[in-house]
Amino acid sequence: MPIRRHVLICKNKDCEQPIVLPPSIHLGTSPHRVPWPKDELPRNFLCRSCNRVYEYTLQDVRPALDEKQDQERANHDDTVFRLEGGCAGQNCEAQVRILAVGPQGSGTMLIKSFWLRSAIYEKAKCLEGRLCPGLLAGNVSAQIDPDWE
Ligand SMILES: [Zn+2]
Ligand SMILES: [Zn+2]
Repeated sequence: MPIRRHVLICKNKDCEQPIVLPPSIHLGTSPHRVPWPKDELPRNFLCRSCNRVYEYTLQDVRPALDEKQDQERANHDDTVFRLEGGCAGQNCEAQVRILAVGPQGSGTMLIKSFWLRSAIYEKAKCLEGRLCPGLLAGNVSAQIDPDWE
């Protein structure tokens, strides 16, 4: 049986792969509710197909049907991870948050090393709202995103 999901479509025109959003517990599982943090603010998401980071808003969320078999779903991207560190912008002291969806079992350490190696920041914004060239190396933390629980 296909399951109803919500996705973001990667903003890279050469990719356009879906980023599947896990349900947010505080929203419950009603199909009419869109999984997004309560503050409804934009979020930077990493697409794991093309490794590009863009900013997405609540309005970018689309419904989609997940046709995967139950076995495949067991290893599915079920967790939103948050990587946070200093903005690499000149004269910018702000923090940058990047979200990526992955299987919970992959763990924050693996997710962190993967992101730091590979992410390409296209239209990410730091918490000051400026376009962000990336994360400063060092002092980067990774955790399961508390806003998504
Ligand atoms: Zn992509
Ligand atoms: Zn900045």
